Amino acid sequence: MIDEYANPANDPDKATAQAQAPTARASHLDRPGELNEREAAIKNAQQRQATADAAAKIESLKQQINRLQRAVRLAIESELADWTGRTYGSLAANQDVVRMIHEMIDGHGLRLKCPECGHPAILRCSSRPGIADGVFVFDHQVDGRRTFHGGGVVLPSLRLVAKPPRRRKADQS
Ligand SMILES: [Zn+2]
Repeated sequence: MIDEYANPANDPDKATAQAQAPTARASHLDRPGELNEREAAIKNAQQRQATADAAAKIESLKQQINRLQRAVRLAIESELADWTGRTYGSLAANQDVVRMIHEMIDGHGLRLKCPECGHPAILRCSSRPGIADGVFVFDHQVDGRRTFHGGGVVLPSLRLVAKPPRRRKADQS
């Protein structure tokens, strides 16, 4: 008889306690509505904090990007400063060079600054009767009209400006 009681598996009290355990834990959730409200409030506050953190990070990232963009602009300008006065020996070669300049700066949201009026412009090399290698012109919108400035036979001074915002449909005609 004593041996039987020493074996825990045969202890009727312990077996009952184990069976009741899940029920006992479940009884803590007797007011689920109140708990859900508190959980929702905590979740809400955490989400607001996460949104505020994201906004702060994006603001700081924007400042970093601005500094990098300024460094890119200065690096390109300093390289192009040496190109003033050059020509590449043919109309096609000059057109290739101005196209490459445009592609490079366009990728960084930049345009060339017209030395005559200061507007953002695309540099082109246009054929001109009597001038074999063409002339360099700044192609841009001035007072809503397509305008060409410049017209020299060598690369003009190349300064950079931000690309203007896209024109609205109403402005295009
Ligand atoms: Zn101009």
